[in-house]
Amino acid sequence: KDLKVHFPTDKEFLSKEESVVKAIDGVNFTIYENETFGLVGESGCGKSTTGKAILRLIEPVIGEVIFKGKDINKISRQEMRKVYKDMQLIFQDPYASLNPRMTVGKLIEEPLIVNSNLTPNERKERVAELLEVVGLNAYHASRYPHEFSGGQRQRVGIARALALNPKLIIADEAVSALDVSIQSQVLNLLRKLQREFGLTYLFISHDLSVVKHISDRIGVMYLGRIIEQGTKHSLYEKPLHPYTQALFSASPSIKAENRKERIVLKGDMPSPANPPKGCAFHPRCFAATSKCKTVQPELRDVGDGHYVACHLYNE
Ligand code: SF4
Ligand code: MG
Repeated sequence: KDLKVHFPTDKEFLSKEESVVKAIDGVNFTIYENETFGLVGESGCGKSTTGKAILRLIEPVIGEVIFKGKDINKISRQEMRKVYKDMQLIFQDPYASLNPRMTVGKLIEEPLIVNSNLTPNERKERVAELLEVVGLNAYHASRYPHEFSGGQRQRVGIARALALNPKLIIADEAVSALDVSIQSQVLNLLRKLQREFGLTYLFISHDLSVVKHISDRIGVMYLGRIIEQGTKHSLYEKPLHPYTQALFSASPSIKAENRKERIVLKGDMPSPANPPKGCAFHPRCFAATSKCKTVQPELRDVGDGHYVACHLYNE
C-alpha cells in the first residue's frame, strides 16, 4: 500500500526534491492466496526493489506491507522471524545464490538448522523429501552446486526456499538465466508446487512470455510505479496503457493474431533520479497531450479488475 523506496543521492547542489532516487514511488497491489501475481517491466523499473521492500531486505521502506493482516513494517524483529518462515525468495542466478563450498544437502538443510526444531535425522529425511519434491533425488544431497546444470541448480534453490513450508514465494527473474526449454520445465514445476502446497507467488520478470505463462494477474511497472494492472486475460487481450501496448507489440511471443502493429518507443526509460514531470511516460508516449506533461495520472479502476494510470481513460 503506497509503497515507496527513496534512496538519497550525494548531489548536494540539487534541491531537496531532486536529491532522492525514487526507486519505487507509490506502488499498490494485492496478492491473493494461492494466486500468482506477475510484476513485469523493463530493467530498472523497480520490480526487484518492490520484491525486496516486501521482504524488508532494503530500508527505508515507506508505506505498508500487510501480510496476513499485519503491517510487517511495524512488527518486532522477533515476529519478523516468523514472517520470514512464511516468505521466501528465489533468485535469478541460482549459481550465484548457492554457496559453492556447501553440498546441495547442506544448502537445503541450512534453513532447517536455523529455523526449525528438527533433529539431525529428521532434517536429513526432510532434505531427501525436498529433493524428490523438486524432481531431484536423495543421491544428489552429497553433490556440489557446480556439478549441476542451471535448471537443476534452480531446483535446488526452490527446494531450499520450500524447506520451511512458506506461504508466499517471491521469484525474482527466477528462470531468466535458463534456456527456453529448461525455463518451461521450471515454470511447470513451480505451478505443480503451487497446487500441491497452496503456495502464493509474486513472480517478477522482464520477460512477457514467462509472466504470461505463469501469472493469474499482472502489474506492469514503469519508473517506480504500476501503470497498468489486470487479470492475465484482460491485460493480454486488451492492453490499455500506451506503454503496455508498446511493450506487448514488441514481444515476438505474443500470438500474431493478437498483435497490433509494432509500436516503437522513442528513447530509453529515463533515470529514476530524474523522472519526467506529469506522466513519467510522456516523453516516449505516442498519445501524449499537454496535460500529460504536468499532471500525473492515478491508477484508476476501469472495470473487471483492470486498472490503468493514463489520462486517455479518465472519461
Ligand atoms: Fe501517454 Fe498521457 Fe497516457 Fe501518459 S497519461 S501514457 S503520456 S497518454
Ligand atoms: Mg531486477
